[in-house]
Amino acid sequence: MMNFQAILDLDKAHIWHPYSAFNADAPVYPVASASGVRIELADGRQLIDGMSSWWCAIHGYNHPALNQALEDQLKKMSHVMFGGLTHAPAAELAELLVTLTPEPLQSVFFADSGSVSVEVAMKMAIQYWNAKGLAAKQTFLTIRNGYHGDTFGAMSVCDPVNGIHSLFNATLAQQYFVDAPRCQFGEACTESDIAPFEEQLQQANGQIAAVILEPVVQGAGGMRFYSADYLRRVRTLCDRYNVLLILDEIATGFGRTGRMFACEHAPVDPDILCVGKALTGGYLSLAATLATLEVSATISNAEPGVFMHGPTFMANPLACAAGVASLKLLMASPWQQAVSQIEQQLEKGLDGCRQYDGVADVRVLGAIGVVELVEPVDMAIVQPMLVDAGVWLRPFGRLLYIMPPYIITPADLQVLITAVTDVVVYLSTRHDASS
Ligand SMILES: *Cc1c(COP(=O)(O)O)cnc(C)c1O
Repeated sequence: MMNFQAILDLDKAHIWHPYSAFNADAPVYPVASASGVRIELADGRQLIDGMSSWWCAIHGYNHPALNQALEDQLKKMSHVMFGGLTHAPAAELAELLVTLTPEPLQSVFFADSGSVSVEVAMKMAIQYWNAKGLAAKQTFLTIRNGYHGDTFGAMSVCDPVNGIHSLFNATLAQQYFVDAPRCQFGEACTESDIAPFEEQLQQANGQIAAVILEPVVQGAGGMRFYSADYLRRVRTLCDRYNVLLILDEIATGFGRTGRMFACEHAPVDPDILCVGKALTGGYLSLAATLATLEVSATISNAEPGVFMHGPTFMANPLACAAGVASLKLLMASPWQQAVSQIEQQLEKGLDGCRQYDGVADVRVLGAIGVVELVEPVDMAIVQPMLVDAGVWLRPFGRLLYIMPPYIITPADLQVLITAVTDVVVYLSTRHDASS
């Protein structure tokens, strides 16, 4: 097996990492294996995982039930094309998704990543209105600070500043943006919160195919939590102004916010729903776009009579088998209790961070704990600090955050909380010294 340094040398010579410079000096850590909530580095160090590998690994790594499901499926087939063929893992996963999601969602389109499921959702909305004879409805309305993926359609509805729209200006579709709601989670939505959104809909509904939002929690765009009441108002306005509502639950889906889906906090039913990330428990890349029968039937009953999308690896049987096993595991587990215990421990544990000058805000919802700092985190210093503390956390911008696998024990979660607190104390000391 290749050693730590050999992996690093080849990596540095040839590999791009997410949102990174090529041949960068920023540290990357070779991983040898992962099990439960522990990631083992190639030099033998063990890290407690506080990231769930970007919201995905909700059951932890190397889970016997998920491993077994994949081994069983592997012996049958790892892949067949989905044009004209179907299979049990896809059928079973579609049934589970339809059962778990809001009742009007009945049609499932499997995609290979979250970004693609967002592209698919946007294309569905455009084809829906085209089928209704309203072909001018081809743009989208969203709120700032959103994140919906890295492909061009998805990117066009990401926050224009975080998404660096200026860089892609000539290619990127121009969409409508309003400020993200100021009303916090747990608060009511006031007229002034919703007024800009309604004005935009009123002015441009003839051009708008759909509103697209992350319900309640805006993830990679800033880890902001907003009022579920706002979401309820959005649903009402979408109906009033004849636009569809697309909810992107790629990050929030499958229990992360304390409900199976974050839209249940309102509750609202979307016309189109995107899921991904935790769908396979972090085992394989898979996402899905669910639509109401109204949407799927309207598209299918008008010219060209088909929905115009079809990924090569659509409904990959291995990925679907992992999805089925992951969802069954979730449903059979006391996940609500687990997430609620994590929530309470994060609230209590991170509360102490509020007292430091360098901290702008501390917020917790479900199994998501966020410490927002006043200044951006210096990753060159903080990432090695966290690894030395025996934890895997990946801060970005001004955000230090914890979103652990649901199976984490209170003792391991405490190690994550302590590591975050130590970083906050360290950065505040530096902040004080420099001001
Ligand atoms: C991660 C994410 C996406 C994109 O998913 P990928 O699988 O990375 O393409 C889209 N929307 C939200 C809310 C996400 O968190």
